[in-house]
Amino acid sequence: MTLNDVKPPLASSSPEQLAEEGQPSHGVALWRRRKHFSSVHTRWRRDTAPLIEQLREQMIRVAPGATQVQLRDLLDEEASRLQVIGRVLQLVHPPASETHRLSGLDLLVFAVLEDASDAKRARGALRQLRQAAPSWADLAGLPRAEVAALLQGAGVAPFWAGVLLELLSQVQQWCGGMTLEPLRASTPVAALLWLTGLPGVTKQTALHVLLQERTDSPMPAEAAPMRVLGRLGILNDAGLQDPLDVETLRSLVPPDLRRELHRTLTAHAEEICTPRTPRCGDCAVNRFCRAWRAQQVELAARSARPTMVDLFCGAGGLSEGFRQAGFRTVFAIDQNPVAIRSFRLNHPEVPSEQVVCDDLRNFRDDARRILDALGGQQVDVLVGGPPCQGFSRAGWRSRTSTRQVQATADDRNYLFEELIGLLEVLRPRVVIMENVPGIGEVRFPDGTSFLEVTVEAMRSLGYDSTVWTLDAATYGVPQHRVRRIIVGSRVGPVPPPPTPTHRAVSNQYRATVQPTGEHLRPPVTVAEAIGDLPPLLASAGQWIDRPRHRVGRRRTKGYSGEMAHPLNLLFSHVTRYHNDLDLRRYATMRPGDNYLALLRRDHTLENYRRDGFEDKYFRLAPDRPSKTIVAHLQKDGNSFIHPDQHRSISVREAARLQSFSDEYIFTGSRSDQFLQIGNAVPPLMARTIAHTLMAHLDATAETDGDPAA
Ligand code: SF4
Repeated sequence: MTLNDVKPPLASSSPEQLAEEGQPSHGVALWRRRKHFSSVHTRWRRDTAPLIEQLREQMIRVAPGATQVQLRDLLDEEASRLQVIGRVLQLVHPPASETHRLSGLDLLVFAVLEDASDAKRARGALRQLRQAAPSWADLAGLPRAEVAALLQGAGVAPFWAGVLLELLSQVQQWCGGMTLEPLRASTPVAALLWLTGLPGVTKQTALHVLLQERTDSPMPAEAAPMRVLGRLGILNDAGLQDPLDVETLRSLVPPDLRRELHRTLTAHAEEICTPRTPRCGDCAVNRFCRAWRAQQVELAARSARPTMVDLFCGAGGLSEGFRQAGFRTVFAIDQNPVAIRSFRLNHPEVPSEQVVCDDLRNFRDDARRILDALGGQQVDVLVGGPPCQGFSRAGWRSRTSTRQVQATADDRNYLFEELIGLLEVLRPRVVIMENVPGIGEVRFPDGTSFLEVTVEAMRSLGYDSTVWTLDAATYGVPQHRVRRIIVGSRVGPVPPPPTPTHRAVSNQYRATVQPTGEHLRPPVTVAEAIGDLPPLLASAGQWIDRPRHRVGRRRTKGYSGEMAHPLNLLFSHVTRYHNDLDLRRYATMRPGDNYLALLRRDHTLENYRRDGFEDKYFRLAPDRPSKTIVAHLQKDGNSFIHPDQHRSISVREAARLQSFSDEYIFTGSRSDQFLQIGNAVPPLMARTIAHTLMAHLDATAETDGDPAA
């Protein structure tokens, strides 16, 4: 399989130049707080402040003492969320006909005719009228009988000819011509009053027209779009207890979104979110929908799935894999607020109040708070991947003193103690802790490693405990990622590790851990994982997109086919900026080249020492799995250069290499998203582990007596 049929040229040097050359902007951001507010948006924030103040008491996830600034931030977050919803709906419901582009008097006449008949007839009548008279002034001069005949020919009752001619005459008289231009200069209330005073114009029609003419006009309270908006909910993250009434909903939609949101919500209401039987399974915005999420929580609570608690959950890689294997997350915690937002968005089955943004150390003396949050539910599996930077080689390289001293002095390396502390309180049937191989190499002054200490701690609490060393590539993840999984079980001996399905890539790993792998499937390659994604330049791409076609076949098979979004939506396929010199380096490197290979090709491109920086630059090979995706991608992408495009990998490509499907949406800035992806456990590997644990739990269900309970 070739990676891309079309190779983009080398990107030019600066974002400004890219903009001049017509590069697309990244479009709607995924919940990045807006830095620059328009004056209309600022006025809207000010005007809605009293309303938000009134709603404060209903917000169960907002601290009672929240300041005005915090409430305004909440409003901006909501504006961001609605913007994302609007963009997704715009992509799945593009404007269908020329009537969507109508404005001014054309729109007013169309809306009146639509009220008099239906959209199809109104479209036909408008066409007839335009053919008979080139301008509205010409039409106003036609005899009434002639206009009536034209309308009748299009299926509209001839009676409306008189209404239409009177309407045009009043517009001519009050606006000084056939235009609605003066509406923009008057106040919204005066404009609405004047429009509703015209013959044949209802309040809804007037609002519809005003929405096109003025950015500060409220959304028409039409039943269909309001139904969808009500179901989607507003201020969901604040945990509003009751759904909002139509008037409040309308005023909480930011002015700059109203026009397009009104159109897309109307289209969505007609095609998907129908009154009685909404097709939620086909809905592109179901993850954002308050109604659908409530259903998912209810369904999960009623299921008999084994439960799990996810500590240091990040964006939810472990929970996602366990969910796919049939587990149900009942509590998750992490201290990164952006990662928590991504977790909540992608795990509608977990009640938002049980996805907590906090430092686990704050639970040290009050671990029973977690038990209370669980409402007495038994925890089957406790999982946790404490931050691993303290143990990782990447972390050591940049330090000056010895590994031992550095690693034992790093506070983050003691977070495993929090997991052990909770193990004592929650008494799950099984516990797993995921970490980098370095956890077995870093030792305390007495010679014991962090790994041995953790295993011993589990044993002292009555758990049989052992360590699995797994390479994600051997479970179908297109990435060489070796991890230590410390497993503890109090319901029988720990089972053997999951059986690999794919061959290992590393000779060392193959020799020591998986000596008999030759009969297995070959590992999934970078080309198989990302080859169908549209080619991009550096500093390009869209946060939310729906490419017309993918490179190669539209619906690819194999790994990329499994990962693709069912509606072909593509989130975060966005690349970072590179300077000219780096672009030259990328163009010089061949797939599989590292920094030393680059210098052998062109020594003038040197910019780091040669020792210790071999991997500072690395071009991925298309026919092999990727090297380990790391959180450092948030800082630079030189170690993850695309195999045949001169740029580092996009956020979505990193997610694909981590086995996150395209339906998994990461929020925050590009750096935030790279961080969440790099820190995650690949869901595919997590799923394999979860299957093994599920079989173990099933097999030991009879022996579930806990002597320590
Ligand atoms: S998930 Fe269902 S209820 Fe919610 S907006 Fe989509 S179709 Fe409507």
